[in-house]
Amino acid sequence: MARKFFVGGNWKCNGTAEEVKKIVNTLNEAQVPSQDVVEVVVSPPYVFLPLVKSTLRSDFHVAAQNCWVKKGGAFTGEVSAEMLVNLDIPWVILGHSERRALLNETNEFVGDKVAYALAQGLSVIACVGETLEQREAGSTMDVVAAQTKAIAGIHAYLLVFITKLQRNGLLGIFFLHRTSFLLVMTDRVSNWSKVVIAYEPVWAIGTGKVASPAQAQEVHDELRKWLAKNVSADVAATTRIIYGGSVNGGNCKELGGQADVDGFLVGGASLKPEFIDIIKAAE
Ligand code: PGA
Repeated sequence: MARKFFVGGNWKCNGTAEEVKKIVNTLNEAQVPSQDVVEVVVSPPYVFLPLVKSTLRSDFHVAAQNCWVKKGGAFTGEVSAEMLVNLDIPWVILGHSERRALLNETNEFVGDKVAYALAQGLSVIACVGETLEQREAGSTMDVVAAQTKAIAGIHAYLLVFITKLQRNGLLGIFFLHRTSFLLVMTDRVSNWSKVVIAYEPVWAIGTGKVASPAQAQEVHDELRKWLAKNVSADVAATTRIIYGGSVNGGNCKELGGQADVDGFLVGGASLKPEFIDIIKAAE
């Protein structure tokens, strides 16, 4: 099954209501490839979600930039997955590197958020990516694999079966006579079609220093192999792995032409008309 190109626009903590209306107008007037060719999802700040949701063209979708890790309640300042579902917001971005770095979100915390959001029926853009120090130390793949493992929620259980006990009559003690072991691996993601993995090298985010097409392809290919080995061949073949980090109208075509790059998560350029050129890279 071919993977449909995916272009996400992460508006981060930017914009006024007037600016948001302008961006929506630009998007609404744009001539872009059809929904069969590209899936477009824009992610405004929480406060603008209802405005964007109600004014954006129906072939584009909206995403929140985060949500709380479990059911809502006494968590001041947080927004729960249930609230997003209630507002009919289909997508949420989780594990963005800015939240990992500035708000200390750990791999486990991000993994718990992904599991909870999926359980509520949301689709998730789950972000992974290494820092410059980690890349220079040669640990890029270890870092993104650990992040992806937490997102997949992979746990291993060792089951021990005792099939026969033998009694030593003289001592009156029982000995294990026959045991067998079974290593069970489980992942918490029940519906991988609702997950898009965004590979966003931290050193490329907002820096203008984009990963080369070869660098992006290398990590995407490794991530796909990781999915094949640790989840399934089918999930590896069908899950979209998108690239983020200084994507713009000039570099999108070559990046998007890489075999394992299935689209983009765009920050700065998603606030500008050039976002439309990036959507067109799907063609
Ligand atoms: P950028 O941000 O395109 O401004 O580098 C990408 C992101 O953070 O998703």
